[in-house]
Amino acid sequence: ALPAPAMAEAAMAARVPPDEDGDECLPQYRHLLSPDLLAGQVAFITGGGSGIGFRIAEIFMRHGCRTVIASRNLQRVSEASKKLVAATGQQCLPLSIDVRQPQTIAAAVDEALKEFQRIDILINGAAGNFLCPASALSFNAFKTVIDIDTMGTFNTSKVLFEKYFRDHGGVIVNITATLSYRGQALQVHAGAAKAAIDAMTRHLAVEWGPNNIRVNSLAPGPITGTEGFRRLGGKSAEKSDLFSVIPLQRAGNKTEIAHSTLYLASPLSSYVTGTTLVVDGGSWLTSPNSFSALLDVWAAGANQ
Ligand code: NAP
Repeated sequence: ALPAPAMAEAAMAARVPPDEDGDECLPQYRHLLSPDLLAGQVAFITGGGSGIGFRIAEIFMRHGCRTVIASRNLQRVSEASKKLVAATGQQCLPLSIDVRQPQTIAAAVDEALKEFQRIDILINGAAGNFLCPASALSFNAFKTVIDIDTMGTFNTSKVLFEKYFRDHGGVIVNITATLSYRGQALQVHAGAAKAAIDAMTRHLAVEWGPNNIRVNSLAPGPITGTEGFRRLGGKSAEKSDLFSVIPLQRAGNKTEIAHSTLYLASPLSSYVTGTTLVVDGGSWLTSPNSFSALLDVWAAGANQ
């Protein structure tokens, strides 16, 4: 790997946008695109109270979008909403939903439509993940991940379709992962769940294209400052210098994922549907997929 100052210089040369580690807004933001790119629009973001979803909400709001951020923990989304409004001056409605329960999604979409009269964009970001070898994974743990990720994405997309997108068109971005591309060790549950979402992306793009609905997936690589990074061995990969095998020599950040999501959600990608945009610095092509090394990470976590 490059030494730290050289790394910082390389990052500057590559124009990596700054990020903040926790669920905090960016202290400064330099627009690369027009600040009114999403003016007048409304985005419904599941998992918008934390991590990648939080930064997507912030970047959308900095481009003129009003947002609804929805997840199970109302306190979490309410606090996130206050920060987002303070940093961007846009409206943000926090709502409680469980994507496994369609009636909670329907109630939230009704409330969002009452507040904003429209929803233009759906970001399916809600998910659950952890490292676990298949041999130690309970039947229920596998099902829970499928329920939240795969079923949750279908449930939310279908509710939005019925309540608004069928008649008005819309854009859906599903946040998936590259886990299944090489059969990532200790990730059969999340890899299978996300692969099913990528399939869903293509099916729904075909069926809903005539309704002027675009459906795409975005598959992030390892992203710093997130729960995913903490839980899936990101810290130990960082320590063992594993990111130097990534073609771009580093993990990604939340702002970078939010920028790519902005592209997929905005008219910049008006002729793009049914695709998966991989945003991972080339990581899945070259990163190790070591069963024994990941078992060590899992065992250390399991013993804590
Ligand atoms: P995160 O902060 O844990 O985000 C997950 C969100 O989903 C949370 O806000 C959580 O909020 C919500 N959620 C979980 N279960 C839910 C349910 N049943 N109903 C509604 N909301 C639910 O993690 P993240 O790392 O930023 O990940 C965000 C997305 O990026 C996920 O789809 C993840 O798979 C994907 N991704 C992340 C990485 C990475 O490196 N971080 C890499 C590849 C893909 P509540 O607890 O309040 O419900």
